[in-house]
This record gives sequence, C-alpha cells and structure tokens, in this order.
Amino acid sequence: MIYEDYAIFTPGPVKMSEEILAIGAKQTPYFRNDKFSEVIFNCEKGLLKMLNAPEGSRVIFLTASGTAGMESAVMNLLDEKDKALVVHGGGFGGRFVEICKVHEVPHTDFSVKDTNLADIESLAPRENYTSLIVNAHETSVGHLYDLDAMGAYAKKHGLFFIVDAISMLVTDPIDMSAQHIDAVIASSQKGLALPPGLTMVILAPRAQERVKDVKSLYFNFKDYLRNGERGQTPYTPAVTIMLQLEARLAQIEREGGVAQSIAKAKEIAEYFRESIKGLPLKAYTPYMPNAMTTLTPTDGRSAIDIVNDLEKQYKVMVCPNGGPQRDIIFRVSHMGDMTKAYTDLLIDALYDYYKIERR
Ligand SMILES: *Cc1c(COP(=O)(O)O)cnc(C)c1O
Repeated sequence: MIYEDYAIFTPGPVKMSEEILAIGAKQTPYFRNDKFSEVIFNCEKGLLKMLNAPEGSRVIFLTASGTAGMESAVMNLLDEKDKALVVHGGGFGGRFVEICKVHEVPHTDFSVKDTNLADIESLAPRENYTSLIVNAHETSVGHLYDLDAMGAYAKKHGLFFIVDAISMLVTDPIDMSAQHIDAVIASSQKGLALPPGLTMVILAPRAQERVKDVKSLYFNFKDYLRNGERGQTPYTPAVTIMLQLEARLAQIEREGGVAQSIAKAKEIAEYFRESIKGLPLKAYTPYMPNAMTTLTPTDGRSAIDIVNDLEKQYKVMVCPNGGPQRDIIFRVSHMGDMTKAYTDLLIDALYDYYKIERR
C-alpha cells in the first residue's frame, strides 16, 4: 500500500479514524431500497444540523470531487442575469472566477490580500451585485475569511451568498442561519475526514427557489431535489462514503457535537503553533483557521525542500505549494482524526531536522 505507514498532515485527504476505515473495508451494499434511503436522510439531517441550516433546507449529494460542488452550485444557482462578486484570495477563489467565466456568469474578480474581509463593506467595489461567492477557508494559502462580516454585508445588500466550506467544516465555525448563507459546498476528503469522492451542496429555501433549468444531465439540481424527497439520488451515489458520512456525523454527535470538534481542532492547532516557536518558521498569515497552519521558513531554506525531506527522512507528509510559492510556504493540516500525540510526530521530526532541541 502506498504511504500506509506515513503520518499525514496534508489538507485533503486527511487522517481518518479507525471506525471510518473499518466501514471502507466492507462490501458495498445495494442502495435502491428503503434501507439506504434512511442513510441518505440521516446524512442530510446531520449536515443540516451541523450547519444550523434554516428550516426546509436540503442537501444535494454528488459523486464527484469538491470542484464539482463548486461548479454545479454556480451552474444551478446563477445565470447571465446575475452579477457575482467573487472573492479571490488564492487558487480556489481563482477557480470560482474560472467557473463563472466558463458558464458566462457576469462577475467581478475581487482580488484580496492581507485581509479577512472583516472590512468588506469598505473594500468591495461599489457596484450592483446579485451574489457574493467565497471559499471560507482559502486552502491554497491557509486564509480564513470573516463569515459574520460577509454575511452581514450580503444581507444588507440583498446578495445571494454562496460559501465553499470544504476545508473548514468541522474545524471552524459556520452557521447558515446566523450568517445569512444561502448555499454551502462541502466535500468528503477535508474536515469531514472521509475518502475523496463525495461532494455536497446544501441549499437553504432561498437557494431552492433559485434553482435554474440547466443544460446538464448529471448536474441538474432539480433532479436531485426530486429524487432526494424519497432519500435517493438520480445516479449511483458514493455508497460507501455515504455510509462513512453517516457514521462520521454520529461520531461527531457522540463526541459532544460540532462545537466540541471545533474546540478540539483549535486546541490542536494552537498546540502545534506554540510547540514550533523554537524553529525558524513563521506563520504566513494572521488569519489562520483551526484547520491548517501555513508556514514560511525564516532561515533561507526552501519550503519545498523541507516538504521533501520530511517525507523522505521521517515519513511525515505535509503539503507543498506550487508555482512561485513553492519555495516560500508549506502547509500543515490539523483536520481529521488528530491528537496531540499524533501532531508530535511532525513536531519532533521538525526539531530533529533542524537539529534544535525541543523544549
Ligand atoms: C479541496 C478544496 C476544494 C475541492 O477540490 P477537489 O480537488 O475538487 O476536491 C474546493 N475548495 C476548497 C476551498 C478546497 O480546499
């Protein structure tokens, strides 16, 4: 098995619990029956609760990676009569811009840097928009945006608010009701700590009213909403991942609910950040989520060399960046089945690598 005995700190896939792994080892069951409809209903109920979604919200389950969730949301919820303000703080924001281009949705590429948009009111271009789109955690750089401020802004200006929560769900707070969010995109392989292959689009009633007639067979939300009424999907769902999702949502509840999961992620992230203070590494942004820490070497070392050396010498996987950032930053995920003892594998490897004694 590739990398089976490696410690994993990448922002997707993330470390999965033994309970979730065990479900993946079982035979995939037949799914066009009441028994599996029950699984889908449980998944929908659990996700809506986790997001504090308004009464009457629904979930679209797609067998695809997260980008399909992003693209299908734009396709089904926006059209040429819209004007979207797309927050672009890194690679994933850039992807939303591309999606709007491909689907001919009028938009502004709202490039942002060194802000978490707490001041969106003064930073946003003064134009008449219909929609606001953001990746709540811009995973390419580890930057968390202020959903409270953005939600208040969306409400004030009557904007339809789409949030990609893929890499902050379960580790950082999000509340569809309080933050006036109309549509949320989730995906299996990040905070939910499941295998890749399942993406979910959560639609508040306002979003369901907006669903368009789209030129697509597979990504037709109307079809999913209709089938979902009886706990089914139009096409084969990611059956095993949905069984794992059902178990994962129950696991989160059992451990005290999502607030407790967020508190645990925060504790692990802070433990890591505090523990590496003796090393020549500094935080890349002041707006870090609990989900991840992005680090810049301060001793002239190249970030990509550190990533490669950790893998080769210590069997520890952290995440490199591409392009011009490959030498400047690397990323450490705190998502998934993390403990302080597991995080110590990375911390100890780093101290040994730098030949500095850990105190
Ligand atoms: C990982 C991620 C995605 C989805 O990427 P896929 O490779 O398509 O699963 C989308 N948005 C954000 C913010 C992500 O971190």
